[in-house]
Amino acid sequence: MNENDILSAFEDFLINMSKLSESREPRTDEACKKICESLRVGKADVLFYDSPEKEGTEDYAVFEVYDSHVSVDEPSVVVRKKTPIGNIVFYRFFRSDESYKWSNDEEKTINLLASMLFVFHGRLRLIEMNHAMTFFDADMNIYNLKYFLRHLGEMIDRKIILGYAAIYFNLRRFSVVNMQIGRVNGTESMKKYIDLITSKISGDELICRIGGDNFALIIKEEKLDEIIDIFNGTSIVYGKEPWEYINISASAGIYKLNGDVSADSPTEIMDRISVALVQAKAMKSKHIAFFDRKMLENNEKSLKITADFQNGLENNEFLVYYQPKISTSTLEIVGAEALSRWKRGDKIVYPGDFIETLERDMNICRLDFYVLEKVCKDIRRWLDQRRKAVKISVNLSRRHLADPELLKHVIEIIERNNIPHEYIEIELTETTSDLEFQDLKTFIKGLQSQGISTSVDDFGVGYSSLTLIKDIPWNVMKIDKSFLSDSNEPYDPKKMIMLKHVVAMARDMGLECVAEGVETRQQLELLRSHCCDTIQGYYFDKPLPVDEFEKRLDNAAYYID
Ligand code: C2E
Ligand code: MG
Ligand code: MG
Repeated sequence: MNENDILSAFEDFLINMSKLSESREPRTDEACKKICESLRVGKADVLFYDSPEKEGTEDYAVFEVYDSHVSVDEPSVVVRKKTPIGNIVFYRFFRSDESYKWSNDEEKTINLLASMLFVFHGRLRLIEMNHAMTFFDADMNIYNLKYFLRHLGEMIDRKIILGYAAIYFNLRRFSVVNMQIGRVNGTESMKKYIDLITSKISGDELICRIGGDNFALIIKEEKLDEIIDIFNGTSIVYGKEPWEYINISASAGIYKLNGDVSADSPTEIMDRISVALVQAKAMKSKHIAFFDRKMLENNEKSLKITADFQNGLENNEFLVYYQPKISTSTLEIVGAEALSRWKRGDKIVYPGDFIETLERDMNICRLDFYVLEKVCKDIRRWLDQRRKAVKISVNLSRRHLADPELLKHVIEIIERNNIPHEYIEIELTETTSDLEFQDLKTFIKGLQSQGISTSVDDFGVGYSSLTLIKDIPWNVMKIDKSFLSDSNEPYDPKKMIMLKHVVAMARDMGLECVAEGVETRQQLELLRSHCCDTIQGYYFDKPLPVDEFEKRLDNAAYYID
């Protein structure tokens, strides 16, 4: 062994080792080649015990350091080291050839090599831990968004992105799952659900956790159906008892990577799957949406609505229109529904264009209180002017139900304007989740105790539940316009039967029955024959600006030929 050769081999070793930064496993073949050759080391490896108690047991891991593929079976030098966190590591050196024995000096040099490897491995371990902290979600044992973006970028650079689909998915109502089975079981179920998806992916496909119950996925297009099946609902067993399972489903925004040059950046892809997810969440049933360009435009519109809302509210750009409700027997106005309109410049914007956006970030609650305030002011004026005043119904979004002080806020507005409670009605649509159901029930009971009328809006669309009618003491049922046949489809026997029985059920349960969307004389006559109390619809009037509505109030009643 020539001293100079060894020195130069060590120098090479040091330079090459310090270049290693990203090995997920401390395999260091190239860096160790020269020094191992000059010391006639055929193979070197590391035996790793993660605690001192395990030392000497079968519970160890082996990492290769160097392998020339020509070596004896047993190590000749074994160096024991202990890491600061208690791992025990053995560096084992195998001679390349049985006949050659290492001298004392050579063994000392090999010991030195072991010490240096130990220092470098410590460094690599730190780098790996840093990598894990930067790119890994330890709870779910999958990568995080940072890594996902980097991976997407690499796939784009390697031009292999075509034929894949990117997906942004959110576990549906996971907070309710947590409440039902507890946080610990909730996390366990989430992990099992994610493990199931992970088991379907391979190669360049990747799943990552964005945070909370939000995840992203990149998979081959041909696997989409299989993944969508999982999103649509999968039973997850979280415990040993037969009843310890839960159905988990996800909303998902999907973008098929079709080589669109304008979307060739990871952030652009993220934007696209994010807007698709927003769309998916807003869907009534199957919560899966594929990206299309219109979504980007809608997203821009939504952003603008959100940005302009505050000013719009302060500048009184929101108007309240009133749509009369007419008694089917006397044809008199017995009430009206307050409906908002947004006056933007000379344009009147309808709720269909802004309510959904305002609901996303709770701005709707501010609009609803604003409308209630305006309605109260109008009623106060009618009462002060001693003209006819009728009960006005105000729509409240279900988003309000998260507010435990909701009843107090509503009453405060009504009382501050000195409005007798019988002039106000609150309309709320049906609710689907159990959690909301309880809040809804409490709120409706609270209004009733204050003598404020309540009505269930759009009854019959979505997942109408009879429990909703049985367990919540509504005053009014508003039957959705979809029960009425429209002019393109004049006679649908099933709808007619349903309409008749829904009206009868409402009446038998002591609810006032209001039919919405009445546009024709035939519809009016049909509803009259079923003894529906009140109707609201274009047949009599569209929603009217307040001055026009006041004129209607001043007239006696509508008439029909
Ligand atoms: P809604 O509460 O069910 O109100 C009835 C909707 O049906 C109104 O639409 C009304 O203009 C429309 N309509 C009335 N008669 C007819 C008819 O004969 N034929 C047809 N095709 N439609 C008719 P609008 O004003 O566009 O409001 C849409 C929805 O937006 C409302 O449905 C309500 O859910 C929501 N909305 C409106 N204003 C507010 C508000 O201030 N707050 C909240 N939270 N929601 C509101
Ligand atoms: Mg309504
Ligand atoms: Mg309605």
